[in-house]
Amino acid sequence: MSAIDDLPPLSQVIATHGLSARKSLGQNFLLDLNLTAKIARQAGDLTGCDVLEIGPGPGGLTRGLLAEGARRVLAVEKDARCMAPLAEIAAANPGRLEVTNADALNLDLRGQLTPPIRVVSNLPYNVGTELLVRWLTPPNWPPFWESLTLMFQKEVAQRIIAQPGAKAYGRLAILAQWRADVRIVMELPPEAFTPPPKVHSAVVHIQALSEPRFPADPKILSQVVAKAFNQRRKMLRAALKGLAPDVEDLIVAAGLKPTERAEQVPIEGFCALARHVQAARE
Ligand code: SAM
Repeated sequence: MSAIDDLPPLSQVIATHGLSARKSLGQNFLLDLNLTAKIARQAGDLTGCDVLEIGPGPGGLTRGLLAEGARRVLAVEKDARCMAPLAEIAAANPGRLEVTNADALNLDLRGQLTPPIRVVSNLPYNVGTELLVRWLTPPNWPPFWESLTLMFQKEVAQRIIAQPGAKAYGRLAILAQWRADVRIVMELPPEAFTPPPKVHSAVVHIQALSEPRFPADPKILSQVVAKAFNQRRKMLRAALKGLAPDVEDLIVAAGLKPTERAEQVPIEGFCALARHVQAARE
């Protein structure tokens, strides 16, 4: 196995700094640096990009991102025990790595990043979906990021890429695919991590489109989709009751059948419905 940098192996880093994994922080570390470099490569050409990494832990993926030529990595890690090993990586890569010891849910680093910006993270499972939804729902589009390359448990990855008719199709698929291209680029078994989690994992690459695939007001679309999937087994006319007066007429005007179920409706159909709901409310 060829070394990706001159720093010690991660097993040694973890032993030196006493980084026993904490379940409460979703700590499942990647120790194979060739694997972390491979994940970094899924984000595309990093040279000339600022990279935002949430949860660097002992720094396996961080080292992969730097080895793959990222211009600068900004990393946010909640666990103070990881600051010393991350400082060693920063010292070996002068001016290219900045680490903040904070909870990523309470911190907005956008002001410190220079475009083009890519987000690459092996996310802690407990906050992964929350962060993804925030990144997918900024006040304006295009967002601050060009792409998101994120590790999730496989079941969440499948919800992001799901197509109409699939069991996993729902709010997350529509949020992501309305304004981005999405695909699973890697799958990892539990044994790839230390300690191994109970579930399989997958890396999803999400590339922002310059504008939404179909026009719709984001807030109204979000309301329509949330209501439709809140009772996903119900027909649209029942699930969407109360969304607007005469909702059944709006469903028909949008080219949909009132007897259809949300899981059958493509994104284009939800966008058309959102436009009709907006017009009816104005
Ligand atoms: N990136 C490392 C790797 O691939 O080996 C660690 C990944 S581990 C799945 C998730 C990391 O996120 C842990 O280091 C954990 O301490 C950190 N973390 C958990 N919750 C966090 C939060 N709210 N904000 C920032 N980091 C968090």
